Amino acid sequence: MFCVTCDASKELEDLVAKARPYSQHGKLASYIPALEKANKDDLSVAIYHLDDGTCTYAGDYQEKFTLQSISKVLSLAYVLAHIGEGKVFQKVGMEPTGDPFNSIAKLETSKPSKPLNPMINAGALVVTSLIPGQNTSDKWEKFLQFVQTLSGNTEIGYCKEVQESEFETSNLNRALCYFMRQHGVLEGDVESIMELYTKQCSIEMNCLDLARIGAVFSNNGRDPLSKKELIPEQIARICKTFMVTCGMYNASGEFAMKVGIPAKSGVSGGILGVIPNRCGIGVFSPALDEKGNSLAGWTLLELMNKKYDFSIF
Ligand code: GLU
Repeated sequence: MFCVTCDASKELEDLVAKARPYSQHGKLASYIPALEKANKDDLSVAIYHLDDGTCTYAGDYQEKFTLQSISKVLSLAYVLAHIGEGKVFQKVGMEPTGDPFNSIAKLETSKPSKPLNPMINAGALVVTSLIPGQNTSDKWEKFLQFVQTLSGNTEIGYCKEVQESEFETSNLNRALCYFMRQHGVLEGDVESIMELYTKQCSIEMNCLDLARIGAVFSNNGRDPLSKKELIPEQIARICKTFMVTCGMYNASGEFAMKVGIPAKSGVSGGILGVIPNRCGIGVFSPALDEKGNSLAGWTLLELMNKKYDFSIF
């Protein structure tokens, strides 16, 4: 991770100490068997500040985790930039859903039968199917490069163990793909889409890298140091809007109320937070609440909001 300086923060460390005990009340995701190997106690946070390009961190900040659903924001940004809003939103909607992230229910009842938004699995699978490239490895390499650029870390890769574990057990996601293919929403070979999707979900980094990605969105798509445009501003705005309306699963409304920032969580326990024009945040703690959000991570963000007044509302 490249930034001017990275410093441990005593203030943040105090908040981490208050939030950490909450992890004991959560559960590790087990439907992807490899995720169950995480250490329940881990809690880390990093803030990448736009004003001076510095990073502050606390907790187990070197601990790596896989992005899981956080990658949905990045694949959306990538596909929007490459094929345009028109083609993407022809296939995926813009509305939040009160259903769990992997639900198939609304696909059956909504007409046309397209996923409600790109932050639920059905929508994210369609987005992944739209990643341009000559073949799966070409698509994967270019997408990974994009993520490396956003994080300012060329060493970022994916966790093969988690990827294989999900690929072998993804019957529900395959079912979503076949259902959508039947209805003409998704095109292409389902196994190739699943390979690409499980790889993007298994991209691995620590909270410092994630905070740096948050800083790009916070900076309206521009690299926080070089100021180079990495994501067009309008696309960064679309992503942040989805993060507010659908980023925290079917607890997005409550999160908007209690923390009030664009955020996206993943079942690994990672949370990407964005405070527009101020900073990017990366949080990780693997024990989840019943809706799939990191329990200690959410608690920590609530404490941070009380202390630093993050809410955009
Ligand atoms: N790879 C996970 C899945 O598709 C991502 C889910 C999540 O993090 O919400 O089930």
